[in-house]
Amino acid sequence: MDNDDKPKKPARIKRKSELAGMGCLIQVIGLALPVIGLLIAFIPGAIVGGILGLVMFAVGSRKALKYICGECGNPVDSKRVKLCPACKCDFK
Ligand SMILES: [Zn+2]
Repeated sequence: MDNDDKPKKPARIKRKSELAGMGCLIQVIGLALPVIGLLIAFIPGAIVGGILGLVMFAVGSRKALKYICGECGNPVDSKRVKLCPACKCDFK
């Protein structure tokens, strides 16, 4: 008995990395921070800038990586999403 007129298709969440976007911009700033710190306050500035840069790089790479529905390409919040908000397919 399968009364569903539109059966749910098992779909997969795809990872998609954005090359041009906020995440990438944050990564670039993160990479530049130690250099900027070095120019402003020499070695202490480079250390502080390096730490901040690492944090920004980590945040940026998280933002640069997006998850999309493998079926319709709709962006989903995270890998833990069970159902696509757009096409309602199940993620296995
Ligand atoms: Zn979908």
